[in-house]
Amino acid sequence: MLDHSHQDWAARAAMLDLRGKAFINGKFVEAASGKTFDSINPATGAVLTAVAECDAEDVDRAVTAGRRAFEAGHWSRMAPGDRKAVLLKLADLLRANLEEMALLDSLDMGKTITDASTIDAPGSAHFFQWYAEAIDKLYDEVAPTGPGDLALVRRVPLGVVGAVTPWNFPLDMATWKSAAALAAGNSVVLKPAEQSPLSALRLAELAAEAGVPEGVFNVVPGFGHTAGKALGLHMDVDCLAFTGSTAIGKMFMQYSGQSNLKQVWPETGGKSPNIVFADCEDLDAAADMAAFGIFFNQGEVCSANSRLYVERAIKDEFVARLKERATAMQPGDPLDPASKMGAIVDEKQTQGIMRFVEAGKETANLVTGGARVTVDGKGCFVQPTIFDEVSQDDPLARDEIFGPVLSVIAFDSEDEAVRMANDSIYGLAASVWTDNLSRACRVADRLHVGTVSVNTVDALSAQTPFGGMKQSGFGRDLSLHSLDKYTALKTTWIKYKA
Ligand code: NAD
Ligand code: MN
Repeated sequence: MLDHSHQDWAARAAMLDLRGKAFINGKFVEAASGKTFDSINPATGAVLTAVAECDAEDVDRAVTAGRRAFEAGHWSRMAPGDRKAVLLKLADLLRANLEEMALLDSLDMGKTITDASTIDAPGSAHFFQWYAEAIDKLYDEVAPTGPGDLALVRRVPLGVVGAVTPWNFPLDMATWKSAAALAAGNSVVLKPAEQSPLSALRLAELAAEAGVPEGVFNVVPGFGHTAGKALGLHMDVDCLAFTGSTAIGKMFMQYSGQSNLKQVWPETGGKSPNIVFADCEDLDAAADMAAFGIFFNQGEVCSANSRLYVERAIKDEFVARLKERATAMQPGDPLDPASKMGAIVDEKQTQGIMRFVEAGKETANLVTGGARVTVDGKGCFVQPTIFDEVSQDDPLARDEIFGPVLSVIAFDSEDEAVRMANDSIYGLAASVWTDNLSRACRVADRLHVGTVSVNTVDALSAQTPFGGMKQSGFGRDLSLHSLDKYTALKTTWIKYKA
C-alpha cells in the first residue's frame, strides 16, 4: 500500500469524490444560507471543492440534533460494550479507507502523503480503537460511607460537546476530541478548521456507516468568527474542546462567560525548547531528532521543538550536523513519496512565516534555508530554515512561528539552560538530551511543561496525556484522563435499612 508511486497517488487524488456539505443529523446538507467557501490545495493553489459555509443557524441545527439524540438515549444510554462495538467498526472503516483519508489531509493542508498515510490516518484508527476498547473497562466509585448509606459516584456524559480544531493534523485533531467524547456517550458538534475540513466530513460519514446514530456526530465546516464563535456562545453546548492558537483559546473562555458557563478546555500554542547537553553520547541521533522535531509537518506542530539550546562546547559541531539534515529535507510535491517536507497550509501562513524569517536575517545568523520556494512553479513552500546566535529576546525565540524555522541558542550551564527554556509564556513540551541520568531527571523536574521527552522528541501515545501548562492551555487530550473533560461526576446517595 505504501509503495505507491507519485503517479499512483496523483491518479488516486484525481479520482476522489470529495464531500463538501455539512453533516448534520445523519445527513449531508447545504448551509442554511446556501453559502460555500473554497477548499484549496496549498501545493498547487487549485480549488479542491466548494464547502458548505455554516454559520450560527447551522450550528444551532447541529446542536439541536445533538441534544435530541442525547435525550433519546440511543447512544448516550447504550451499554458501553455496545458503543465499543460501533467505535471498533469505525476504526476498521478508517483502516479500510486509509488511503482516501490520507489523501484528503495531504491535499487539503499540504502535508506529505507519506506522513498522512503512515502517521495521521493510521493514528486516527488507532485512537478510535483505543477509546473503544477502554470504555467498557472503566469502573466508577462507591464512597466510604457507613452502613445504611450507599453513595455511588459515577462519571456520566455531559450532553453536547462542541469541538473546534486546527488544520495542522486535521483528521487526528478531529479524532482526539471526538473519539473520547463519543466513547463517553456524548453527542458531538465538530467545527474543523476552514483550511482543512474535508477529512472530518468523511469521518462523519464513516461514523454513520459504523452505526453511530443520527444526530450524535455532526460536522459544521465554516469560519472561526462565525461558526466557531456560534458554537462557543451556544446556550445548549455543555463543553467546548478547543485546539488552536492561544489568542482564540482565550476567546473561547470569554464566550463561555458570556453564555452558559460551558466547560472550556483549551489546548493552545507552544514554543518548545530542546536542550542538548555535551554529555549526550549519540549526537547523530540528537541531530536527527532535533531536525525531525522542527521540520516534521513543515514545522506546523504545536509542540514543535522550535528553540534549540545547545551546550556551547558542542554547539558549532551540532549546528553543522543539523545543517546537513536540513539541506536534505527540502520541500517537494506532497504526493511524491520521496518528498521529505510538504506545503505550508495556505498563503497567509506562508507570508507570516516569511515575515519572521526576513526579520531574523537582520537579527540572527542564517545557517541554512531562509527562502520561500515553489514546486513545479506553484504553491506555498518554505525551505527548512535554521538561525544561529539567536538572542533569547528575539521574536524568533519568543513567538510561535508555526513553520520550519529553528532558533539556536548556546548555553554554558545546566541552570542557564533550564532558566532560558522556562522563559516563555508557553509550556507545552520540552526535550532533553543527556546520558547523565540524574541530570535528565533533575532538568525534567524543573521544566514547566506538559510533556518532557528525554533522549527523544515529541513523545506521544494514546496511553499518555497530551497538553500544556501556562498559556499552552490546560486541556488534556489522549489517555483515560481526557475522558474527564467529557464527563461529570454524579453522586447518587441511597438510604437503606441497615
Ligand atoms: P486558530 O486558533 O486560528 O484556529 C483554530 C480553530 O479556531 C479553527 O477551527 C478556527 O476556525 C477557529 N477560530 C478562529 N477564530 C475564531 C473565533 N474568533 N471564534 C471561534 N473560533 C475561531 O489556530 P490555527 O491557525 O488553525 O492552528 C494553529 C494553532 O493551533 C497554533 O497556535 C498551534 O500551536 C495550535 N495547536 C495546538 C495544539 C495543542 O494540542 N496544544 C495542537 C495543534 C495545534
Ligand atoms: Mn486547504
